[in-house]
Formats: sequence, C-alpha cells, structure tokens
Amino acid sequence: VKLSDMMKKRQLLSFELFPPKTDRGMANLSETIQQLCRYKPEYISVTYGAGGGNVGANRQVCRMVRNAGTVPVTHFTVIRNTKQGIREQLETYLKEGVDHILALRGDFPRGETSTGGDFNYATDLVKFIRDEFGEQFEIAVAGSPEGHISCRSLEADIGVLKMKQDNGADYIMTQLCWDMEQFERWLDKIRRAGVTLPVDVGIMPILDQAAIINMALSRNGCVMDRELSRLISKYWIFPNPFDKAPFDDSLEQKKADFKKAGIEYTIRQIDKYRSLGVEGIHLYAMNKWKDVSQIIERSGIRTLI
Ligand code: FAD
Repeated sequence: VKLSDMMKKRQLLSFELFPPKTDRGMANLSETIQQLCRYKPEYISVTYGAGGGNVGANRQVCRMVRNAGTVPVTHFTVIRNTKQGIREQLETYLKEGVDHILALRGDFPRGETSTGGDFNYATDLVKFIRDEFGEQFEIAVAGSPEGHISCRSLEADIGVLKMKQDNGADYIMTQLCWDMEQFERWLDKIRRAGVTLPVDVGIMPILDQAAIINMALSRNGCVMDRELSRLISKYWIFPNPFDKAPFDDSLEQKKADFKKAGIEYTIRQIDKYRSLGVEGIHLYAMNKWKDVSQIIERSGIRTLI
C-alpha cells in the first residue's frame, strides 16, 4: 500500500506515537492503539530516539500497530548511524514488515554540532535508501513551514525539500505550524519551487501548556499565533516572579480550562488545514487517546459508526 497514492485521492488521517520507556507505558499504549485504530487511520507513525537508543521499543510499537491492523511508519534518523548500521536496521524493519519510513536527520545530541554518523542530512538518507533498497520503502520526509530552526533561509530550506523529492521521497510530513498565514505562504512557495509531493500536516493538539511552550520555543522556534498566545496568557500556569504568592489554588482548574479551550483551538486549526486541501492530517497523539478521540469526532474527520 502506497500512502502517497492514497493521498492523491483523499485526505488521510494518521497519528504519531512515541515508544514508552516503561512496561506500564507499553501496556497503556496498547490500549491507546486499540482505541485510535477504531477511527481507521491510514497509518500510525512511531518516533525514533536520536542515536537509536530506543530502537527496540520502536520496533515493538511498530509491531503493535501492525497487529492492530494499521500500517506502521517508522521514523528514522542518521544521528550516530553508520551506513552499515543503517543498512542492517532497515533490513530488520523490512523483515518485520515495516516498509514505510520517515527519513530524518535528527537533532544533534546536546552539546554536539554534528550527526556523529556517516550522513549529515536527511537528503543523504533518502538517496541511500533508494540506492540500497530501491522501491522497497515508501519514504516520507520532514518539511518545515516556517523553515527549519537552523536553516539559512526559508528559500534554502525549500531547496532542500526539492532535493528530498529529487532523491526519491514520496510525501512530506510537516513540522507543527500554528501560523496559518505562514503555512499558506510556504505551501504556495514549495509548489512554485516544483515540489509536487503530497503534504501531510503535523498537528500537535493543544492540551498541556508546558508541553506546548517547550515544543514551540525550546525546540523548534515556532511562532504562536495571537489566538494561541492569548489562550496561554489567559490560563497562565507558571509562577510569576513578581508575585508574592506565585501559585494559587486554581492551578488544576486552570490546566483543565486550558485543555478545554486548547481542544477548541485545535479543532479550528484542523478546519483551516482541511479547507486548504492538504493531503493528510497527522495528529501528534502523544500516546493519549481520550482527548485525541474528542478532537477527531468533534472536528468531523472521522466518526464511529
Ligand atoms: P534536514 O532536512 O537534513 O535539515 C536539517 C537542516 O539542514 C535544515 O536547516 C536544512 O535546511 C539543512 N539542510 C538539509 N539538507 C541540506 C543539504 N543537503 N545541504 C545543506 N543544508 C541542508 N527527531 C528525532 O530524533 N526522532 C523522531 O522520531 C523525529 N520525528 C519527527 C517527525 C516530524 C514530522 C518532524 C517534522 C520532525 C521530527 N524529528 C524527529 C525532528 C527532526 O529530526 C529535526 O527537526 C531535525 O533537526 C531535522 O531533521 P530534518 O530531517 O528536517 O533535517
């Protein structure tokens, strides 16, 4: 099954999960996968720890996804990976029936300034997979609507995306982007630059204030639109250094209210993305199913019969 072919016909729904570190986390994830699969997503992707530290757990989650009747897509990075190591890992994935991959560079380990492996960029990985494995893998690549945090310019980053396409990528999974105007500009620019690949939009549900701030500011340098900034401001949960009594009793209530408003916000974002005709909605489910189910049903992407 080629997801990129399906995307040309209809808008897909998919989820992203991460491999838990504990047995308890794995047991909970099993329930999450069952629950999410009720919505018949076209695939579920599984993150890969930079450096391959969690590769065993990643493969276990891919198996769980497959056993639940859904296509697993494994993320994969070049961090600290040699050509030989990559070849062996990819052969193992194929043997286990995982033939969909998100080919990434990965983030440099803290304090380091290189990948520490044989490749420097995701473009190299895409080419390597095509050269070594032909068409055996369907390859997704990352796209950053605001430009990757360390790119020279948006234009240079779009040039990289075109290179990924030329090297054999099948579709794009995007970095989160709350700035819809920027997203539209990017979509227009990549098409004008000759990037024709389907675009599967990565959406991080707004549920937890600290996680959102961490993801936006400490990792990706994303812009928050006014509506999201106002939400965070309205339900601000962090101690204010100028206050004498930084925490008040309503902290738990604020977190709950933030989540409720965040779900509404996420649904509106999904509406906007869908109206742009993107080829897929990829929800970062963060191993949670209850809130994600609410978002799916209320946004009308899928309903349970
Ligand atoms: P690249 O495309 O290689 O780009 C990295 C930088 O180098 C960019 O600034 C780009 O403009 C520049 N560049 C790229 N190619 C060239 C070239 N040939 N010449 C010159 N400059 C170039 N990380 C994980 O560790 N595990 C995960 O599971 C994971 N999942 C992710 C899922 C999604 C949907 C996304 C969007 C990201 C994910 N990441 C994950 C994060 C990702 O690894 C980081 O964003 C990383 O910093 C860049 O990866 P990339 O594939 O975009 O890199």
